[in-house]
Amino acid sequence: MNQRVAFLGLGAMGWHMASHLPKLGLDVLVWNRTVAKAEQHAQCFNTQAVSIEEAVQADFIISCLPTSADVEQLIAQYPPKAGAIWIDCTSGVPASAQKLSQELKRIGCHYLDAPVSGQTIGAESGTLTVMVGGDEQAFQQAQPIIQAFSGLIEYVGESGTGFAVKAVNNTLMATHLWALAEGLTVLKANGVDLSAAVNCINHSSGQSKMSETIISQRVLSRSFEKTFALDLLQKDIGIALDLMSEQDLALPNMQLIQQQFNLLNKSQAQQLDFSAAVQILERQTEIQLHD
Ligand code: NDP
Repeated sequence: MNQRVAFLGLGAMGWHMASHLPKLGLDVLVWNRTVAKAEQHAQCFNTQAVSIEEAVQADFIISCLPTSADVEQLIAQYPPKAGAIWIDCTSGVPASAQKLSQELKRIGCHYLDAPVSGQTIGAESGTLTVMVGGDEQAFQQAQPIIQAFSGLIEYVGESGTGFAVKAVNNTLMATHLWALAEGLTVLKANGVDLSAAVNCINHSSGQSKMSETIISQRVLSRSFEKTFALDLLQKDIGIALDLMSEQDLALPNMQLIQQQFNLLNKSQAQQLDFSAAVQILERQTEIQLHD
């Protein structure tokens, strides 16, 4: 019988990631909490919308939900069948990955933490970076499946290490965005044209992904188009900070970034793109960053 792969969670990322799976030549099942989205996905991409009970009978189950707590709840209610590999692309908590990996091992399954990076645009083009933690043999079995939506897959170590790398990566992204916004604030206060300044920075050593894309496309343009909710970035920074303090470290830049990004509460942050964090600085300085 044909192997089956199921994708759970057709949100901003999952919708596009699951759209690449049919090219594997396997049966592709999709499930979403809001069922209509799965039905729409099936129509658009030749996938099959199924119930959660049916989805967890697949050989490979991929999840991309907001938090580890959401995934834990789902697995507790709907465990996979023996022999399955659960590939969790949520940006989650390392301790949760270790716990789920132990729990699934007891029922003859594997759990891999496999968070992704590359934003919705990378999900759409199938070029995401995927950082994977967990059993190495299970990783090798899962790799051809993950390949469908990725440009780079890196096995980073034991259970939880994928989530750890992702949390630190996103804390760096927040740091770069904040540092860039501070630098541009100084330039703006000194009468410098910001578009010209960003162009120089992009061809100089201060360049980053944030200076190359987000600052012009979302901040200077004032669009703040929402593709990655700010509350999800707050969650990722929180995961990195927990990893830091669990090791009795107190690193000042990371602490400061968390403090600044948490000035908006979760329900405010849920409504905004992560780039809107720049507006916190704009309110503090009363200087707006625009073209
Ligand atoms: P979205 O909020 O766009 O989508 C979340 C998805 O999870 C939806 O399908 C939603 O279903 C479903 N969902 C939410 N809560 C539950 C629950 N309790 N049980 C079952 N399903 C649930 O999130 P994203 O796609 O942006 O993010 C998903 C993950 O990927 C997060 O961990 C995020 O940090 C990470 N990520 C996001 C990136 C981005 O650019 N957006 C980039 C890289 C990683 P419903 O449709 O019913 O609401």
